[in-house]
Amino acid sequence: MGGTFDPIHHGHLVAASEVADRFGLDEVVFVPTGQPWQKDGRPVSAPEERYLMTVVATASNPRFTVSRVDIDRGGPTYTKDTLTDLHAAMPDASLFFITGADALGAILSWRDVEDLFALAHFVGVTRPGYALEDDHLPDGSVSLVEVPAMAISSTDCRRRVAEGHPVWYLVPDGVVQYIAKRRLYREKG
Ligand code: ATP
Ligand code: MG
Repeated sequence: MGGTFDPIHHGHLVAASEVADRFGLDEVVFVPTGQPWQKDGRPVSAPEERYLMTVVATASNPRFTVSRVDIDRGGPTYTKDTLTDLHAAMPDASLFFITGADALGAILSWRDVEDLFALAHFVGVTRPGYALEDDHLPDGSVSLVEVPAMAISSTDCRRRVAEGHPVWYLVPDGVVQYIAKRRLYREKG
């Protein structure tokens, strides 16, 4: 499951759990993205902070792990590189790439979409009412899964911290404590 995870929240974890159950997956590997300059016009927390929050959030689940492939490669993340690196690390695994249907729409508008489908089956977790434009997609290459808890977003979690509101129960307890310890998402000045 790819994401910025700035911070990781229960929407991500519920989505991963739901897709793992639906497809009978042995393991979900969370892959924090490499460092984009910015995302939606804002600076993104350092890769190491996002990586550690993801480790803290997934530590208690034996089927959840975290991969550093995108962070260690550096720069903006291309899904083809992510899947190529994961395949090299787990040559016998059949890979499912899980992400939000919003992000999936952008990834699948690329030209090398056929190469991507050779590397993994794509699963888009949908927001309510979201419809993926799939006219140009080969049959069976993409699955959409509706998950509960879709209202939680990292943007809202960051805003809450900046405004002094709680993020308890939106993110795992350890992530609440990590955000406080590292003073993430505080307004400057
Ligand atoms: P931001 O608000 O900064 O965009 P985000 O909450 O969308 O963050 P990302 O790290 O961008 O979090 O999420 C990775 C993927 O998980 C995205 O493709 C996103 O659509 C999906 N996702 C985000 N929130 C949820 C949720 N509550 N339930 C299921 N999937 C989600
Ligand atoms: Mg998002």
